[in-house]
Amino acid sequence: MGGGAWVVRLASLLALGLVLGSVEASLGDIDPRYRTCVKECQTTGIIGENIISHCQNKENDTSVGGSWYNQEQIYIQWKQLSCRTDCRYFCMMQREGERQSLGLNPVKYHGKWPFLRISVFQEPLSAALSAINLLMHFTGWLSFFLLVKYKLPLRPQTKRTYYEYTSLWHIYAILSMNAWFWSSIFHTRDIDLTEKLDYSSAVALLGYSLILSLLRAFNVKDEATRVMFAAPILAFVTTHILYLNFYELDYGWNMKVCVVMAVVQLLTWAIWAGVTRHPSRLKLWTVVFGGALAMLLELYDFPPYMGYADAHSLWHASTIPLTYLWWSFIKDDAEFRTSTLIKKAK
Ligand SMILES: [Zn+2]
Repeated sequence: MGGGAWVVRLASLLALGLVLGSVEASLGDIDPRYRTCVKECQTTGIIGENIISHCQNKENDTSVGGSWYNQEQIYIQWKQLSCRTDCRYFCMMQREGERQSLGLNPVKYHGKWPFLRISVFQEPLSAALSAINLLMHFTGWLSFFLLVKYKLPLRPQTKRTYYEYTSLWHIYAILSMNAWFWSSIFHTRDIDLTEKLDYSSAVALLGYSLILSLLRAFNVKDEATRVMFAAPILAFVTTHILYLNFYELDYGWNMKVCVVMAVVQLLTWAIWAGVTRHPSRLKLWTVVFGGALAMLLELYDFPPYMGYADAHSLWHASTIPLTYLWWSFIKDDAEFRTSTLIKKAK
């Protein structure tokens, strides 16, 4: 079938991209003993007492005859990728054991700290915490939905909510859950594809929340003005995502873009809450202050404690209570706007 062949070809291209991906070097992987270990492991499939089954049956792997986009080929590429991942993991653990016995501190390998795996999870703690963040957004969104739809009065003529930002928060919830979903996948298995999906989703969420903060702070209610506010940011964020995916995944540049977008929206919320004397400004300030503190964890990058808890995973932990408080603020804002509008109507 033509359609089937197309899917196979695409999957094969994708797999090839994954095999060729990740070229960055860290202190750990420039160590010649680590490199020799990985090379040996990949050819023999044996490291210490571990046997890596993905690295065995080499005779099959070298047969490149026939159409290169058949399923056999995809399977072989997948095996090669898994062989490399497993060898890197066991060699890293071996080297770290040796370094520890010499009293040396842990170093990074291919841009990452030496994490202990649990089953298929490469960074189990960050993956689990991302899943909890997703859940927090889901429950927050659900209770916001129930509040505006059933608990608060609706406009008599249109049956729509009094709160003017309802649909904007719905989109926010979907983008948040999407970002945390890809974050947990990326921390489960770090390959080129999952990394790009994680980064792209995070940038999309940050860009959208920046737009939302400006719309709320400047009280923009009519569609035309909203589009005017959103268009330049949307254009920039789209270009940035395309740049990361199809030109270069430049970590330094992406970090700058994300920090600027985050700082601008945190300041927007904080100043707006103060100026308008919003009744729930204390909640909002806590989220802003907590969010800013949490960002410091990302900058203070320490190796994983007990092989699991590094700075990044603690950052994912800190956003869990902040998310709860954040949705609580959003619900307060909906109640506050609704009661103001009803008072005005009377
Ligand atoms: Zn993460």
